[in-house]
Amino acid sequence: MNAMDVETWIEAFAAAFNAADADGVAALFADGECYWRDLVAVSWNLVTVEGRAGVADLVRAQAAKIGPITITGTVPAASTAAGQIEGWYNFETSVLRGKGYVRLRDGLAWTLLTAAQELIGFEEPGGRRRPEGAVHKPLKNRRTWTDEREEIAATLGHSVQPYCLIVGAGQGGLALGARMKRIGVPTLIVDSLPKVGDSWRSRYRSLCLHDPVWIDHLPYLPFPDHWPVYTPKDKMGDWLEAYAMIMELDIWTSTICRKASWDERDRRWTVIVERGGETITLKPHQLVLATGLSGIKQVPAIPGAESFQGIQFHSSDHPGAEQFGGKRCIVIGANNSAHDIAEDLWENEADVTMIQRSPTTVIKASSLRVLQEKGYYSEAAVEAGLKTDDADLLVNSMPFRAREPADRANCRAIQLWDKAFYERLAASGFQFDFGEDETAIGGKYMRRASGYYIDVGASDLIADGEIRVRHGGVERIERNAVVLTTGESLPADVIVYATGYGPMNGWAEMLISKEVADKIGQCWGLGSGTAMDPGPWEGELRNMWKPTAQDGLWFHGGNLVQSRFHSLHLALQIKARMEGVATPMFHPPTIERPPLTA
Ligand SMILES: Cc1cc2nc3c(=O)[nH]c(=O)nc-3n(C[C@H](O)[C@H](O)[C@H](O)COP(=O)(O)OP(=O)(O)OC[C@H]3O[C@@H](n4cnc5c(N)ncnc54)[C@H](O)[C@@H]3O)c2cc1C
Repeated sequence: MNAMDVETWIEAFAAAFNAADADGVAALFADGECYWRDLVAVSWNLVTVEGRAGVADLVRAQAAKIGPITITGTVPAASTAAGQIEGWYNFETSVLRGKGYVRLRDGLAWTLLTAAQELIGFEEPGGRRRPEGAVHKPLKNRRTWTDEREEIAATLGHSVQPYCLIVGAGQGGLALGARMKRIGVPTLIVDSLPKVGDSWRSRYRSLCLHDPVWIDHLPYLPFPDHWPVYTPKDKMGDWLEAYAMIMELDIWTSTICRKASWDERDRRWTVIVERGGETITLKPHQLVLATGLSGIKQVPAIPGAESFQGIQFHSSDHPGAEQFGGKRCIVIGANNSAHDIAEDLWENEADVTMIQRSPTTVIKASSLRVLQEKGYYSEAAVEAGLKTDDADLLVNSMPFRAREPADRANCRAIQLWDKAFYERLAASGFQFDFGEDETAIGGKYMRRASGYYIDVGASDLIADGEIRVRHGGVERIERNAVVLTTGESLPADVIVYATGYGPMNGWAEMLISKEVADKIGQCWGLGSGTAMDPGPWEGELRNMWKPTAQDGLWFHGGNLVQSRFHSLHLALQIKARMEGVATPMFHPPTIERPPLTA
């Protein structure tokens, strides 16, 4: 029954699409709230259209350019809501294979996902396509795997130019690099740090991933099943280093990307990098900035900071608190890093005061875990046979706007479970919120990637008065004190600026030019019109993993799940360009985006 219904619907959808019947396709969607999320397959972009008008708009723009969609199979899925029928389907266009998921209500689509999976003729060499690895016959001048790896190391970036250059060998650059390797895009990754994995190793000593293991796998190579739920940061660094080696990624470490400029005539970048004292010019066609969502440190200019006699540093430079026992430490900021560092300082017998300027969304890690254990990334899901790639598609089949009610429901459930905790926290004077519309961390992460704390213990220390909190701004810094706008003077030996990071397009300004950064506009954020995420509504993360207003320039990053999932979409877009596959884009990026924010 379910199979028939999903099958009937998707066949009707394909028939109307293939007839370029925009109104016919739209009529298959619910009248009112409905969404079509397309990841590359139809739009050669990452887009979500909303309402029947949005659906018709997408069909009108793309149907003739994409050509017929053929449905190659359907698989029903268990309903996740009463009265809802849902299921998977596979499809092909003339150039790619895709996978999708549809949720039907009263026979009409509430949500539809169309997601590209592979380019026809450029399939990855996995499974039955895996290479032989050996030549079982006598060969003069036999070339071994090592010979081939050494040749690439000697030539790539010198006599052979990479088609794609990825700046940044964090999890983002590595996940994308692995996809590129498999799909056959000659790619060089550069990173300023000495060893792959150092971006995690160099973070504060006490840090463990905040997300549990089921959500954190990199593409192709999942963590073994004895891996701890929350990975310690150095273990993560080692995993990344091993991953780069196993996936045979071509990486130059200790290499700083200094400058990049686009040559419109050659349609190539000129990228200046410094490696081992040598200045090298690279000429890739595609440039990916995987330089980190939390990249450029933001340190406020506070009068008198230069006169401070103690130690002061940005949270990303926190050396570990062992040396600060007995010291009076002021942590400026009240989000995740501020809490983690304050807890680390407390554990090492420091005297800690946190300065909070605006409310923080605080959710206990243990409560998130309760929710996660019921979700697609959990041991229960693994036991039920759900593969990570399918979990990714299921989660991403839900458009951002449609996630908000569930985020709110979860947030309200957590407020009830943890009522006593929040009462204690409120009594301590700590200011917290659940986001402007109670979408809590889910909302804040996608909109601004800041403003929250996943509580792993520091909130109890605040509630118990072990970590003191003061509110308001910092007016000035003196030789041995931090003076607040309230007039209070806090004696200080150490100041930690847990004041966050600049926007990702700051990387474009730093490495390319202000003009290009302005042309691209803001990265990240959905256009929700909430704090730090100005409208208009876009429905997808701005400029991430999709074409930007600058030819040949891409942004990649985010948490592990985003790096894993969207690296496929970015790799497919780049491979298509390399192979000359037509990529007719729906809503090509324009310069009419919100201006670069500070
Ligand atoms: C304290 C903290 C905790 C976090 N916890 C989690 C978590 O639990 N789970 C999760 O999924 N995410 C977490 N994140 C968020 C995010 O996943 C990480 O920031 C992650 O490291 C991002 O990976 P990335 O590859 O995008 O960037 P990064 O890891 O920041 O890597 C960027 C790389 O680019 C290099 N680079 C930058 N500029 C240049 C240049 N000009 N030339 C050469 N190289 C350059 C840097 O050296 C760096 O290695 C956390 C972030 C922070 C700050």
